Amino acid sequence: MAAPFVDTARITVRSGNGGNGAVSFHREKYVANGGPDGGDGGRGGNIVIVVNDHMSTLMDFRYKRKYTALNGADGSGKRCTGKDGEDLVLRVPRGTIIRDAETQEIIKDMSDDQPFILCRGGRGGWGNQHFATPTRQVPRFAKAGLPGESRDVILELKLLADVGLVGFPNVGKSTLLSVVSRAQPKIANYHFTTLFPNLGVVFVEEGVSFVMADIPGIIEGAADGAGLGHDFLRHIDRCRLLIHVVDVSGCEGRDPVEDFDAINAELAQYSPELASRKMLVAANKVDIMSDPALLERLRAHVEAQGLELLEISAAAHQGTRELVLRAAQELAQLPPVAVYEPTYVPRQPDVDTSGEVNIQEFDGTWVVDAPWLQRLIANVNFGDYESRNWFDKMLRQSGLFDRLEDLGIKDGDIVSMYDLEFEYQR
Ligand code: GDP
Ligand code: MG
Repeated sequence: MAAPFVDTARITVRSGNGGNGAVSFHREKYVANGGPDGGDGGRGGNIVIVVNDHMSTLMDFRYKRKYTALNGADGSGKRCTGKDGEDLVLRVPRGTIIRDAETQEIIKDMSDDQPFILCRGGRGGWGNQHFATPTRQVPRFAKAGLPGESRDVILELKLLADVGLVGFPNVGKSTLLSVVSRAQPKIANYHFTTLFPNLGVVFVEEGVSFVMADIPGIIEGAADGAGLGHDFLRHIDRCRLLIHVVDVSGCEGRDPVEDFDAINAELAQYSPELASRKMLVAANKVDIMSDPALLERLRAHVEAQGLELLEISAAAHQGTRELVLRAAQELAQLPPVAVYEPTYVPRQPDVDTSGEVNIQEFDGTWVVDAPWLQRLIANVNFGDYESRNWFDKMLRQSGLFDRLEDLGIKDGDIVSMYDLEFEYQR
């Protein structure tokens, strides 16, 4: 059997750490007192997600679960900035939803062409070249780079298509797609052949086209957990229009009306909203109809529900052009494909501020560093008021200022931590 279709994956991603800044002084023969020239550390690489339209599954994420971007390089003398860590770009099929693994909240719906930065690389630390002031000519300190961030996320594919084909296996869905688009899905006279969704672009006329999806077949009882089923229905969640393909040839001894009702029951059980989605009915295989009464019974049944039935033979390309035109007419009236808004609310992480702190004083500048302080700063968005407040509160709670007081810090001295410097004010 073919590999199963992979449409969810859980992965861990980590952006790179920033490089450290350098402490260095300009040296040249016969030149005394060279100034500080320690370069900055490079930025850590981001984790970037982009859409790739050649992909239709999340198979690539099945075996490789951890993705780490490169660290930034350390700075060095002569104002040399360390190289930025390279971004790690992960490609996903269009319609992949990125969720927080813990809370399931939506971080991003990858349905447009904008690259999305899932994790930002840590900022590089400043070299001592930045720390010279009129009163501080010999800055013997530089800053460590900030750590990257790590996240566990779930990728979930919800295909983006305008039209979704539904119907029992073997009724001719893949054939229809292959006839109206350039997609080449596998076609076989065998149930359950479609294990991967296939997408095709249907060209209607100059400037008008739509995307049609053929998803793995629904089988009766799917709603109760039998075989392929509900997992696949999620792929038509976003379709604006459904085309329900029914085999009216009577070849397999099936009753078209029963088939039609069974599939609709599955849809309704999965989602009442989906069951009420706009639907066209395509009565297929009219080229080999054994009993025209089957078709007429289906037509009466369908029309009684206010739906429209079109006769086609996908294999003989009969009626398929009319079906495409009708679909295009309907789509022109329907709202665009749904894009999910993010629901994820960034939370301030738990940072234990009780750990070791290293404090050094250089002529009125107090250089503070600690692993927890790195984590704290890496999680602050200094452009955001709430976030700055949180940072302030955490610093106060940590007892850092009391310690600085004990060591003799005075108002107007500089507190320097990573890429932050501020005047101390009691
Ligand atoms: P799916 O499982 O719904 O995707 O069905 P397929 O497209 O794979 O078709 C199943 C079988 O029905 C294949 O052998 C097709 O060649 C055949 N078939 C599909 N459409 C027609 C049709 O309009 N007329 C005839 N005679 N056979 C068809
Ligand atoms: Mg098929």
